[in-house]
Amino acid sequence: MAAKTHKRQNSRATARPSVAQPRKSSRELIFGDLWEFDPAPETADPKLKPRYDLFINGEFTAPKSGKYFPTINPATEQKIADIALASPADVDTAYQAAQRAFDSVWGKMPGRERGKYIYRIARLLQDHAREFAIAETMNGGKPIKESRDFDVPMAAAHFFYHAGWADKLEYVAPGRSVKPLGVVGQVIPWNFPLLMMAWKIAPALAMGNCVVIKPAETTSITALKFGEILQEAGLPPGVVNIVSGAGETGAAVMNHPLAAKVAFTGSTEVGKIIMRSLAGTDKKMTMELGGKAANIVFDDAPLDQAVEGIVNGIFFNQGHVCCAGSRLLVQEGVAEAVLAKLKNRIKVLRVGDPLDKNTDVGAINSKEQLGKIRELVDSGVKEGAELYQSPCRLPAKGFFFKPSVFSNVTMSHRIAREEIFGPVLSVLTFRTVDEAIEKANNTPYGLSAGVWTDKGSRILKMSVELKAGVVWANTYNKFDPTSPFGGYKESGFGREGGRQGLLDYGKLI
Ligand code: NAP
Ligand code: MG
Repeated sequence: MAAKTHKRQNSRATARPSVAQPRKSSRELIFGDLWEFDPAPETADPKLKPRYDLFINGEFTAPKSGKYFPTINPATEQKIADIALASPADVDTAYQAAQRAFDSVWGKMPGRERGKYIYRIARLLQDHAREFAIAETMNGGKPIKESRDFDVPMAAAHFFYHAGWADKLEYVAPGRSVKPLGVVGQVIPWNFPLLMMAWKIAPALAMGNCVVIKPAETTSITALKFGEILQEAGLPPGVVNIVSGAGETGAAVMNHPLAAKVAFTGSTEVGKIIMRSLAGTDKKMTMELGGKAANIVFDDAPLDQAVEGIVNGIFFNQGHVCCAGSRLLVQEGVAEAVLAKLKNRIKVLRVGDPLDKNTDVGAINSKEQLGKIRELVDSGVKEGAELYQSPCRLPAKGFFFKPSVFSNVTMSHRIAREEIFGPVLSVLTFRTVDEAIEKANNTPYGLSAGVWTDKGSRILKMSVELKAGVVWANTYNKFDPTSPFGGYKESGFGREGGRQGLLDYGKLI
């Protein structure tokens, strides 16, 4: 634990209340002054290799083309490793290996035996948790406290949960029996590289399927490190194949004729491309796409708790969350108070080195993503919304963006309609319950929503009327492997997690 130096940032040390100003409450004074901590970087060795090959048929294999691409640390812009670029020919080799493994071993193995492998994977992930957390933070930019306390434990939890299902599949659909599909192709994004992988692989294996999976181009390290875990677990060769690469590799994974099902998590735009290219085939499909969630605060809500939920919903993890609460709908009577509390809170968010244990907001995942965030924030200013940004100092190197809040936002502003995928909150107001519902639902997306109110009946009404796959009440961004997750409308279809997610990987007989 680092010692506090109790230095105040100069800019704020001068901003003390004068006699003429209204007195601040002690809480406001605490939140108004940022105490500086000594750096507390995580220093353990993540055991990275300088070069990562494809994981096919249980072995690390060089790509047929011999091509590699660099992967960087977005907080330092320094190269971490070279990653193999899989061509369609490599993807084909992976599918052949997966089909052989399905036909000869995995598809025939009793569930209780499959379960043992999945338990072993879960336990090995826990054994290597620290390495994985550091690797995830270095490659993705998210704060170490997020990868250490959320991503890695939750990834292990998904394997534990699904290991438990493997020998109980006769209960997953009462009165029906369920069979595996065969080989499934999966493509995942960069915001939760290891966790999204766990969401995809664990139910597929529990059901008896084999897998070909592609991680995102900017975050392949933990996916390929996961191949080492699979080797250590003694998983039969070919059951899981990991093919790193770019969009073209992803297209090859989605379109391969051996894929009985494809599961995609990413942008709505790419989801639509995939759906168009698979129209007319008999492949089963699940799509987890974008979101523009509303966090709705009523005037009877516990406001301090709500402010913490809002901050958790959009600023932690740099807003790189598909279900991020990127729109705040606040009831008019408390709008001013909520906005003031929110500004006070984001002033003291620690933005910087993601490996530092005190960091709240880390690095934006890529230069490209930072460009998209800047462009949308500029549009908000041009369209007349009022921008407040945290006065924090950003590191000189790396991709960082200040936690930002837009007020005076209207439904027609781009920042109220488009997914920003960054630490940017748009605040809108409403007067009545019906207006809140109408505004929240006025989006092509429908992944998640949050409701903050003291009234249970209002929570129930909102959860029925909001067209969102998840509705959190008096909390935000809470996950559990037993709970299905997925979208309405352009946020996609199919569910991941729980019994429903498992069923999406099987066929009912
Ligand atoms: P993206 O550009 O759609 O990429 C997602 C994945 O698809 C990446 O692995 C990408 O490879 C690959 N890909 C790109 N073009 C492809 C194609 N034509 N065919 C097949 N695969 C292709 O999305 P992103 O920018 O990485 O991720 C952010 C988006 O994901 C956001 O919109 C967010 O809302 C969404 N998301 C949704 C969920 C959910 O559960 N609903 C969860 C997380 C993220 P490259 O990396 O090589 O481009
Ligand atoms: Mg992309």
